[in-house]
Amino acid sequence: MTTYWCELAWLGGAGAEEGVLIEVEEGRIASVAGGTGASPPGAQRLNGLTLPGLANAHSHAFQRALRGRTQHGSGSFWTWRDQMYRVADRLDPDSYLALARATYAEMALAGVTSVGEFHYLHHGAGGTRYADDNEMGRALIAAAAEARVRITLIDCCYLHGGIGQPPEAAQRRFSDGSAEAWLDRVDALAEGQSVRIGAAIHSMRAVDPEAAAVVAGWAREHDRPLHAHVSEQPAENEACLDTYGRTPTALIADAGALEADFTAVHATHLEDGDVRLLGGAAACCCVCPTTERDLADGIGRMSRLADAGASLSLGSDSHAVIDLFEEARAVELDERLATRERGRHSAAGLLRAASGDGHACLGWPDAGRIEPRARADLVTVSLDSVRLAGWEPEQVLDSVVFAAGAPDVRHVLVDGNEVVRDGRHTTVEMPHELHEGIRRVVA
Ligand SMILES: [Zn+2]
Repeated sequence: MTTYWCELAWLGGAGAEEGVLIEVEEGRIASVAGGTGASPPGAQRLNGLTLPGLANAHSHAFQRALRGRTQHGSGSFWTWRDQMYRVADRLDPDSYLALARATYAEMALAGVTSVGEFHYLHHGAGGTRYADDNEMGRALIAAAAEARVRITLIDCCYLHGGIGQPPEAAQRRFSDGSAEAWLDRVDALAEGQSVRIGAAIHSMRAVDPEAAAVVAGWAREHDRPLHAHVSEQPAENEACLDTYGRTPTALIADAGALEADFTAVHATHLEDGDVRLLGGAAACCCVCPTTERDLADGIGRMSRLADAGASLSLGSDSHAVIDLFEEARAVELDERLATRERGRHSAAGLLRAASGDGHACLGWPDAGRIEPRARADLVTVSLDSVRLAGWEPEQVLDSVVFAAGAPDVRHVLVDGNEVVRDGRHTTVEMPHELHEGIRRVVA
């Protein structure tokens, strides 16, 4: 049994509690008691605000190599995608393992205890098969283990270069050829204590409705999280409406995918009927604001979805930055810009998206909350930096959500294991390994 005494902790309510004693045993929280005054003898003292583990619900680890290389110049999502494909083309299992391990270590340093890796880089260059069809996926699982974070490998079915089109050259690595071949490959991946295997429909551009139904059926049958990119771009809506007379969300509903364990990633350009469908199913919507702004995607109105009954989660997606505080506040601040109204999302609501609801959409309902029997993930944010000077206990959630940054995360516990101590990762040499991992895959 290890005992932690938190100066302040967020236990899921509207504000933070003072003097919270947390007992941890065998990777789980054994007890939680607030209002304990001073740190008792033998307890490890956690100064600052302690949060539950954060979930990065949408990641493409290899895109970390693009940071700083694709921000300049003009263009659109589609020109960015060409640059992204060039990096994807250079990766092999070894270089991907090194890059992903360091990228996940960067996440751990930012307080992320579970990552949802939306994985479509399945095969070798040009589509040639590795000896093990899951070699790239297994590299990602190993990377997460070495960075000491949990992973949900959201294995993605990707079949077409666009509706009715074969994969383009760079996309051949992504395609299994058919939904049945996707299913055979995914069936060979095993789950573990820190590994879940989920399913993804890349998008209704890259997966036809029949194949989408196969993927959804597999997820249902095996009780796995199911994710899809939904309406990130108006062009995706137009293509679906032109071909099928249905929006991407409606097509996903037709495929039998729309249930509470479904996560719509982005959900930026929705029609009112789409909002009703997602809300009515109590689905999750994973918003990735720093990527959406980087790619000029547009602003999703997340409060509409929350009001309709959907839950929200957050992802750093292309990793233009890895900072869940920035993602969280952007949900509210971007909506202010779009609507010229303030205060649709509370700090506690945004933290819930970053922690418990994010974990739930990745298939970890017992993580992301500080309560007895939950997985012992604790993220302690220092309140000592210049960014947070002047904080008061009553408003500390607002201070942290609207002004803290990833560098304010000082200590991170994952399943009771100390992964970050005093702002340093305990096993991965950072930033050196990340720098080297990126240099291997960029020209
Ligand atoms: Zn994505």
